[in-house]
Amino acid sequence: MSFINNWLRSNIQEINAYHVPPASDVVKLDAMESPFALPENLIEQYLAYLAECELNRYPSPGADELNQTLRELMQIPQEFGVLLGNGSDELIQLLALACATNDTILSVEPSFVMYDMIAKFTRLNYQGVALTSDYQLDLELMLQTISEKNPKLIFIAYPNNPTGNTFNRADIETIIKSTDAVVVLDEAYYAYAGDSFIDDIAKYPNLVVLRTVSKIGFAGLRLGLLIGSKETVSELDKLRLPYNINTLTQVSGNFLLKQKTEINKNAAIIIEQRAFLLEALIQVGGLTVYPSQANFILFKAPRTQALFDYLKENGVLIKNLSSSPRLIDCLRVTVGDQIQNQLFMAIVNKFYVLQEDVND
Ligand SMILES: *Cc1c(COP(=O)(O)O)cnc(C)c1O
Repeated sequence: MSFINNWLRSNIQEINAYHVPPASDVVKLDAMESPFALPENLIEQYLAYLAECELNRYPSPGADELNQTLRELMQIPQEFGVLLGNGSDELIQLLALACATNDTILSVEPSFVMYDMIAKFTRLNYQGVALTSDYQLDLELMLQTISEKNPKLIFIAYPNNPTGNTFNRADIETIIKSTDAVVVLDEAYYAYAGDSFIDDIAKYPNLVVLRTVSKIGFAGLRLGLLIGSKETVSELDKLRLPYNINTLTQVSGNFLLKQKTEINKNAAIIIEQRAFLLEALIQVGGLTVYPSQANFILFKAPRTQALFDYLKENGVLIKNLSSSPRLIDCLRVTVGDQIQNQLFMAIVNKFYVLQEDVND
């Protein structure tokens, strides 16, 4: 046995490392990134802005200007507190670090895998609650499991990843009211959804909302935010590592995230393209296409692995989820720009036409 295998605790050894496939020369529709680059006419101004930052100094500790920039971009009321993280993943971890030994994190399944992973990293228990067969909340099962397991944290991705849907709002409010746990509404895809729980923070002291700039064009910045009551945020802030938002992220964010018109315009394009993709996938026939409030679409396809491989051979990378027991035969495609989506659909259609030829 190797040194590290002797040394490392067993539940970390058992984790399959988060697999990110190499992605040179492919159309990347696997990770919910935005397809839009920085507009040409902003580059010079951006570089001038960057040149002013003092990398010999520690970053601004509270990142106050960036905090304000995000409040304006996302219309977050001043009465709430905002805590910034190095991606919202860091904030999920920070919430877990606030728990005590033997506490339980609860989420639905299938959902974002980091809730379970971070529970392992931080030595907490994890309890998954199955969604219904069409990926809706099973309210009765949720309430029953919450009362049996008494979780300290409940994560609900809204819209959910990887299914793309939002859950029934009244069900979520019933859950929030049923528990002393902190209920975390993870709104990573808020820009593509018709509803948000931010305003509900005023009503429910145990509600916090997570957001990120990763899915609106800035995955490379690594910047997420937790929104909650001022009191909740100032207590949680004690767990934040000093200077967790680096200077380049702060300075970039203060320039790039002020381009609100551009950001909103890009989100509108994605919403329009999502409708195109949804319709085009339905037209293929034989696929089960799930409705989406996010910048990706989940669909069930016959010969899943063969379709995935065929797309990859033709230069388009999507996500194959079919090995997960609750996502049999499922693939997830990120909504790209018009050209990428048309390319993706052309390959999907060609795959099934070739199939028919084989069957004739
Ligand atoms: C992508 C995603 C995140 C991670 O966001 P980062 O800010 O990039 O860490 C969080 N939650 C959900 C549901 C996501 O899909």
